[in-house]
Amino acid sequence: MSGTLSTVFQNSTLHHSAVGSGFIETFNNLKAVKDLNVLEKLWASYYIWIGNDIFATGLLFFTLHEFMYFGRCLPWYIIDRVPFFRRWKIQDTKLPSDKEQWECLKSVLTSHFLVEAFPIWFFHPLCEHIGISYSVPFPNWFDIFLQISVFFFFEDAWHYWFHRGLHHGVFYKYIHKQHHRYAAPFGLAAEYAHPIEVMLLGFGTVGIPIIWCLLTKNLHLFTICIWITLRLFQAVDAHSGYEFPISLHHFLPFWAGAEHHDEHHHHFIGNYASSFRFWDFVLDTEAGLTAKQSREKKMKSSAEKKAKKQI
Ligand SMILES: [Zn+2]
Ligand SMILES: [Zn+2]
Repeated sequence: MSGTLSTVFQNSTLHHSAVGSGFIETFNNLKAVKDLNVLEKLWASYYIWIGNDIFATGLLFFTLHEFMYFGRCLPWYIIDRVPFFRRWKIQDTKLPSDKEQWECLKSVLTSHFLVEAFPIWFFHPLCEHIGISYSVPFPNWFDIFLQISVFFFFEDAWHYWFHRGLHHGVFYKYIHKQHHRYAAPFGLAAEYAHPIEVMLLGFGTVGIPIIWCLLTKNLHLFTICIWITLRLFQAVDAHSGYEFPISLHHFLPFWAGAEHHDEHHHHFIGNYASSFRFWDFVLDTEAGLTAKQSREKKMKSSAEKKAKKQI
């Protein structure tokens, strides 16, 4: 498949010496290149082997999404079928049936192929236009960690406000209601949503790195791959319906996790954020009975104070 000059290497001599008849040969040719780790060599071999950077990036992101999303859903599907795990199911009387999971799978796959499969081919030209790098070597791990932390923070804010907005009147009726079909969510239901919602909330995942790059001119496609993987894991896990003693939010209290989002599906209001708990906490939009009781308590005490002032 090799042929067209990929710009994965800024140095074209290096590119020519790496070209082989297949992926393995290209990778073997790169073994002699110093200062590149195995991941970087795999990345460069892939781009050189494909020989068309637009196609390579599109295929990479489409495959990454399918593989990471369904790969993360599979363990939850198995857990749902093993009675031993029932003790950690949040809404333990509501197990998704095979029919429900099958319907959901068909809808998610249709959305992936109809909504996502077309714009993904424009991603590489966009990256080149705004300066998202895809050459090797990769940035250092500290930069990757820092940028992904920023993306998590802003995606959560984006998700909170737009998700909250989607619960209003016609937005709920015509768009967001589809996602609330399952009052007891399961992993696959993470991306079960109306195409408008997929695009609107998806902007938080894809648009925020783009804005970051426009402002800083410092972003690598590899960082976006890790970010999208982690964000997919977060979304699938939040819909898993299971709360384990080892769940992340027991160690990071500000992490939302499955319990937070399960309450949202159960009660239909409150807990609008995706990854963290602080927006709902600060703006008093937490879901669930305890949060409702505490809100009522606050309202009662402020009404009493008002009444006392008037006396
Ligand atoms: Zn909702
Ligand atoms: Zn949900």
